[in-house]
Amino acid sequence: MGLEEIRLWLKSCGFESYRAKQLMGWLLSGASFSEMHNLPSSLIDFLSENAYEQPVQIIKRLVSKKDGTEKYLFSLVDGSCIEGVLMPYRHGNTLCISTQVGCNMGCRFCASTLNGKKRNLSAGEMLGQVVSVNRLHGSKTVQNVVMMGSGEPLDNYNNVLKFIRLISLSEGLNISQRRITLSTCGLADKIRSLADEGLAITLSVSLHASNDDIRQSLMPIARRYSIKELISACKHYISLTHRRVSFEYALIKGVNDGQEHAEELCQILRGFQCHVNLITLNAVDETAYVGSDRFAANKFFNYLNEKNIAVSMRRTMGEDIQGACGQLRNEFIKGEG
Ligand code: SAH
Repeated sequence: MGLEEIRLWLKSCGFESYRAKQLMGWLLSGASFSEMHNLPSSLIDFLSENAYEQPVQIIKRLVSKKDGTEKYLFSLVDGSCIEGVLMPYRHGNTLCISTQVGCNMGCRFCASTLNGKKRNLSAGEMLGQVVSVNRLHGSKTVQNVVMMGSGEPLDNYNNVLKFIRLISLSEGLNISQRRITLSTCGLADKIRSLADEGLAITLSVSLHASNDDIRQSLMPIARRYSIKELISACKHYISLTHRRVSFEYALIKGVNDGQEHAEELCQILRGFQCHVNLITLNAVDETAYVGSDRFAANKFFNYLNEKNIAVSMRRTMGEDIQGACGQLRNEFIKGEG
């Protein structure tokens, strides 16, 4: 709930509405009800019976020996589990969060979608992932948030928007919208809606292919929206928000990593205010795809660079701790079964 909602709720339950601000401060610090010592015991009792203070708990933590990346398995109050990754970057610690339990988008290379979508996360459950990591490491640990964990954020539009507005409130966690990235597999109509919301977030689009045939073989969503429609929605987004769009492109051996694909990609992105993030695919056991070798990846990178496309090659991080989307959760679910 936002502050105003908490105020109204407390008031309707017979408590002073000014308690809302105190309560919100406690909740965002990751405190349990018993630690909220400036609240009256009648309110603590009421809250304990009627609410959850922390909807997200860390139940497993893996720390990469290679690069300090931390992977978390979070549990939710209904017993579902989701995952997140904390990556120490030069520009600050970045937490990758989930937006749904599982995912319905069906991308063929992604571990998050193997068992479909169980449900959407609430705004509180997205915020809770940030709060629980801050609680573990100290209150300002998380400086950037990327919605690149499990789930398709634009398939959970209202809750994701509420989350973005809540996390960026100055009286809340105060993480500027410029430090928040929303990644989508490309729901073009929702990108157009997002453009109207007046947000300052970074939009990242998972492109992963230089033509519709390849994209359709990798991502079912490509059958709903062509690359042309997707790019047109991105241009609309840029014209309204004046924010640059990023494209994710996972290099897959023998599928989308050839010279001809680099050329096609440059054609698509010509004259476009964008940035391309290359990453070599993180191989997932259940899928047949593997990442490009270093030589092919470098060649692809250099070609884009020569054509003056803003491009970066993402380091694969956390490879030793099941860093790719959904791997840790799947491992956990299998273990339970
Ligand atoms: N549903 C959203 C956000 C979650 S996935 C989206 O599709 O963008 C976050 C990013 O990880 C996407 O770019 C996705 O395509 C990519 N991804 C998924 N599985 C991957 C893998 N095995 N290796 C590399 N990137 C992967």
